[in-house]
Amino acid sequence: MNSKLILVINCGSSSLKFALYSIDHQLLAEGLAESLNSVNAKLHIKLLNTEIKSTLDTKDHQHAIDLLIIELQKTFDLKLELVGIGHRVVHGGESFKQSVIITQEVISEIKNCIPLAPLHNPANLLGINILATLFPKLNQVAVFDTSFHQTMPEHAYTYAIPYKFYKDDGVRRYGFHGTSHRFVTLQASKLLNKQVDTLNLVTAHLGNGASVAAIANGASVDTSMGMTPLEGLVMGTRSGDIDPGLFDYLISKGLSPEDISRTLNKESGLLGISGISNDMRTLCEQAAQGHKLSQLAIDIFCFRLAKYIAAMMVSLTHIDALVFTGGIGENSPLVREKTTDHLLILGFTLDKDLNSLNCSNKVINDADSKNIIVIPTDEELMIVNDTLELIPGTF
Ligand code: ADP
Repeated sequence: MNSKLILVINCGSSSLKFALYSIDHQLLAEGLAESLNSVNAKLHIKLLNTEIKSTLDTKDHQHAIDLLIIELQKTFDLKLELVGIGHRVVHGGESFKQSVIITQEVISEIKNCIPLAPLHNPANLLGINILATLFPKLNQVAVFDTSFHQTMPEHAYTYAIPYKFYKDDGVRRYGFHGTSHRFVTLQASKLLNKQVDTLNLVTAHLGNGASVAAIANGASVDTSMGMTPLEGLVMGTRSGDIDPGLFDYLISKGLSPEDISRTLNKESGLLGISGISNDMRTLCEQAAQGHKLSQLAIDIFCFRLAKYIAAMMVSLTHIDALVFTGGIGENSPLVREKTTDHLLILGFTLDKDLNSLNCSNKVINDADSKNIIVIPTDEELMIVNDTLELIPGTF
């Protein structure tokens, strides 16, 4: 086994996800800490080679990372074997057009982006600082959710509101899930045997958060998420697009700005419509048993998704493939079928047999259709690749 390792860290406001990879891309350990800063905080670690799973009580991010390193140290000689750490950073604003090695200037610039992601960027910085203290000599790399979409043209990213809000406050569409859209673009290039800089796609990342992107010649030229991850598709608990006139109306009904924000971010989407769950699998089961609002939630999800896929196509001169990814995109034949049913006019039709449960990395359209492919995403692997590419030395 190769003894050089890369650690991937995704530090959220009350969570921490990690993955340990060998430099030849083998996943060796993974896990997460949840409910940090509460009495229920737990750290779950899974070692892939031994199938050992452990769950430890923890407190905050610092404590969880300390425990994680102690646990990993029992199996790996991190001081000797770790060659780099890759961090997911949510918002890179307009400063970061690709992943970078973390320096003091990079840290200052990530701080400058805090107003754009007030919950996420401080947590990302906390993770960077804790690991820099533990491994001061090691190169750390920041991989941004936003950077892949920095190639969007002005007409795609500018909101039709007074231009000074962009100039003075950075109000524009940034887009998110860039690491996933980029990963599936690279995978599609391999699957279709077409050079990435000639590849035109619409990619649909459908997890708890969801977004689509238009990819022209391998670069993002439009996406459904905007200034924040609230814009665009119907999601697990987020509304996606709504009429901005709703704000005035809801305020007139006595809701505060905080109430509206909570409603749109945490109580809407699949959960809000169905009234029972934000989980697509549950809704599919419930709908099959006749639960009407679960069925309605699925129908709205697929209709909005199809509308957005159609909208993405105006940025392209031709399309090589429509790509489904994320937990729902990879695993739900029903969502793929219902969505594609709306796309007949654009030349997409599914082959119902190919659109089965096990169609990862396969084409699922019928013979007369444009390509439709299912590609499992792997954001951690993308972070490993970026880290390996940027850190000095050849591995
Ligand atoms: P996250 O955005 O949290 O990473 P995932 O990409 O893991 O989320 O996607 C989670 C979503 O995928 C959930 O709504 C889950 O119900 C859905 N999902 C997973 N498996 C299936 C399935 N077999 N059928 C329908 N939905 C599924």
